[in-house]
Amino acid sequence: MTDDIHAYEHWLKKRHKTTHTESYYLKLSQRQKSILKQLKQAGDTLEFAKSHIRVQDIVRFAATENVEFSLFTKGNRRIIVRGYYNETPIGHILKKLIDEKWKLSAHTHPGMLENTLKASPNDARFLLALGQKQSVVLNQAGRYKRFNVSGVDL
Ligand SMILES: [Zn+2]
Repeated sequence: MTDDIHAYEHWLKKRHKTTHTESYYLKLSQRQKSILKQLKQAGDTLEFAKSHIRVQDIVRFAATENVEFSLFTKGNRRIIVRGYYNETPIGHILKKLIDEKWKLSAHTHPGMLENTLKASPNDARFLLALGQKQSVVLNQAGRYKRFNVSGVDL
């Protein structure tokens, strides 16, 4: 998970050396379009090789769809789940995530402002359920913030 956010930071730095416009995150590649086509409704879930999907992908999906996306990682596998505006239904895969020890690498919150980066009590409870110490929230502007269980009022 830490590797993921380091990779994302590296990608951001490279990106900032090139043209940066507000609509940047609204442009989807063919690969991103084909993934998004399979994630039409809240709860829709896909599993991929880790190399096929990255943190920056869910930022773009959040920016174009205006809903949450959650990205889980286990070894060299990823799971992405489409959410609603302010929550991601994970009941259908919760047992699998816990039994197989998946980690929540990152999830998005709608909006562009800094206050969108605050983790919710449900986010913290979910980390507890996964036995995980920290994760990352990103917003539609590509900003991110780490959060941990102790930083959130339960
Ligand atoms: Zn959240």
